[in-house]
Amino acid sequence: MKAPSSLLSVGGTEEVRASWRVDNSASDVAAPLSSGESAGQQHKMAARRLLWAATCLLGACSGDQRLVQYEEDIAPVPARPQHVEGWPRDLPHLGEVSGVSVNPAGQPVIFHRGPRVWDASSFNSTNHFQHVSEGPIPVDTVLVLDPEHGSVRASWGRSLFYMPHGITISPRGDMWLTDVALHQVFKWEPGGVAPSMVFGQRLQPGSGLGHLCQPTAVAVASSGVVFIADGYCNSRVLEFSPQGVLLRVVPQPPEFLSLHVPHSLALVESLDLLCIADRENMRVVCPRAGLEGRSRREPPAVTVQEPDLGRVFAVATCGSYVYAVNGPTSPMIPVRGFTVDPLSESIVDHWQPTSTALRNPHALAVSPNGSALYVTEIMPNRVLKFALRRG
Ligand code: ZN
Repeated sequence: MKAPSSLLSVGGTEEVRASWRVDNSASDVAAPLSSGESAGQQHKMAARRLLWAATCLLGACSGDQRLVQYEEDIAPVPARPQHVEGWPRDLPHLGEVSGVSVNPAGQPVIFHRGPRVWDASSFNSTNHFQHVSEGPIPVDTVLVLDPEHGSVRASWGRSLFYMPHGITISPRGDMWLTDVALHQVFKWEPGGVAPSMVFGQRLQPGSGLGHLCQPTAVAVASSGVVFIADGYCNSRVLEFSPQGVLLRVVPQPPEFLSLHVPHSLALVESLDLLCIADRENMRVVCPRAGLEGRSRREPPAVTVQEPDLGRVFAVATCGSYVYAVNGPTSPMIPVRGFTVDPLSESIVDHWQPTSTALRNPHALAVSPNGSALYVTEIMPNRVLKFALRRG
């Protein structure tokens, strides 16, 4: 197998709101007011939009550098997730369910650790995995679930992974998997018998551009551009071309963006933002993704950081909003779900299951048609389904 670049190794791994539109003639920065927004949110949103407009007038906006026209259109706040009780019905015993994504067919796909547990003995002080001799996990680690019943429709991933973490399925069905013990990220194409791309060096943590260190998550743009959150030890995000050529490291001077365990990624393509669950900084931070080009005068990263947010474990895109879940932080901060509006840099809703409490949510995914949301947890090891219906 030929590696696409020197960085790769070959291996066996929704209210009314505003949106921005590029236009060549005018700039209208009047902010619409919606009935559900507080005065504070309105002012914050208006200020944010003015900042963006000013930035673009200075020639620093994305795309082809034309002026931005502010457009009021309907982008309703996403539905509050409603827990689907009794789902799943027929799921076998799971290990730590570290990841979830949804394939183009609308089936949730989970990534779990079987009998392996991440505990204090798993890594040494240099981040090397300490149980290599136990071999890869001997059970299927990737399970494709029935969206109606939760039963297993297909499974694979036996004897390949040492410590599963993130799973992302691209719009075309490619599966991206991260393994924090292997320090690698793998792209599997539909029907592939081996990964078509492998990023990082097997079992070798490192901070150079050819290495990863406990990579956590992947986001894939519709263009094929790939973002890898790297991860527990390097606290950076790497951007690659569809061919695997390194394009950018985030943060990169003069960009000031101090990340502390970027644990999950959500691309908001309509806003050209890459939203990061900046876990230990207890925030969602969204630098410009740069999918429409970049400029030397980039606007500051959007930051959502409120006292009740706590440690953010996972984020997922829904239109131009982001769903998020936090994890245990302090007795004063409930573990629950959030709906975040990057434009106003605010939390617009909170949600949680009805008959149970979230304990340690670790991953989050929204189905491609926006009808369902899935949350996975570690201890208890389980998958929860939420319906996304507008009332
Ligand atoms: Zn994790």
